[in-house]
Amino acid sequence: MTTARDTRAAFCVLPAIRRSGCLASRLSDLLRPSLIWTSIVGENTKIEWADHTWNPWVGCTKVSPGCDHCYAETWAKRAGKAAGVTWGGERRRTSPSNWRKPLQWNEESKARVETFGAARRRVFCSSLADVFDNQVPPEWREDLFELIRKTPHLDWLLLTKRIGNAPEMIKAAIANFDIGYSPDFAAWPWPNVWIGATVVNQAEADRDIPKLLQLPARVRFVSIEPMLGPIDLTDVVTRYDGGTEDHFSALFDPDDDEADTLPYLDWVICGGESGHGARPMHPDWARSLRDQCAAAGVPFLFKQWGEFTTPRVAGAPVSRLVGHERIPGHAFDDGLLVVRIGKKAAGRQLDGRTHDEFPAA
Ligand code: SF4
Repeated sequence: MTTARDTRAAFCVLPAIRRSGCLASRLSDLLRPSLIWTSIVGENTKIEWADHTWNPWVGCTKVSPGCDHCYAETWAKRAGKAAGVTWGGERRRTSPSNWRKPLQWNEESKARVETFGAARRRVFCSSLADVFDNQVPPEWREDLFELIRKTPHLDWLLLTKRIGNAPEMIKAAIANFDIGYSPDFAAWPWPNVWIGATVVNQAEADRDIPKLLQLPARVRFVSIEPMLGPIDLTDVVTRYDGGTEDHFSALFDPDDDEADTLPYLDWVICGGESGHGARPMHPDWARSLRDQCAAAGVPFLFKQWGEFTTPRVAGAPVSRLVGHERIPGHAFDDGLLVVRIGKKAAGRQLDGRTHDEFPAA
């Protein structure tokens, strides 16, 4: 039987990845669906872990409990016809002018690095779609990887909920490239591609992290957002037909004799859910991830609590606020009470400090 360890050690084989006028009219302009569209598909971003968000296409289908309150679907409904997509339906490729933006960012990143010694710019691709969506024409993905190859001064963060599709799709996307003249891009993994998998609970971690670790990449990361349950990254379980299980740590384990030869996660992002219908995250889930990463020396980024928090609110203990008709609350099975005070008020401090760590890539 091939174990998860064997498979991880072997790796999979991929070939050598915004006018003047009255205030009312300005507001009206700002809310025009077409401008909402233009400003969101490719721009600078407020996301804590990237400099730009860029979308080669828009549209997707829900595949996980993490998709229940999909931000992109909400955006598409708000943008209406301008978005041109119905969630779960046909995908829409973004405009040629949008596809030119990364070329400009690449030049800016190069100049910043060479002139100021600044960090390379990171591009989060795709916030309104999934790179490894099997309903996207393969030629679009070929074009995307060609763009990635042409922008070596950008780090591309490909975060997906379909990590199982990634090996074959990457292989197909770069199969016909003439990349012999560029040693850095002659073989996979490419130096400017970070591959990430979104998982929201232990079951998804057990299913998807082994696949992520099998895929060669300069940086492999997980985004645990929205965090919907506890996750132990030091005890990922692969289950085989016949009932046998293989347990392994996805975080560096100094006690493992083979630690230096095995692939591990390079980065962990954690966050609670925000927006309509948001589900609360137990503080201990986030603390545990923080502590797991600290023990393994793995960078940890705590993005946000989401809508719920535990501290005293308006001078009243949380326990007195739960059940208040104007302040929704939630009680976890262990009796811990949290109240919904909004994403901004809840903030992004964990036990009194922020965690904004990045891999040293
Ligand atoms: S994979 Fe991402 S974009 Fe697609 S439905 Fe799920 S949350 Fe939305």
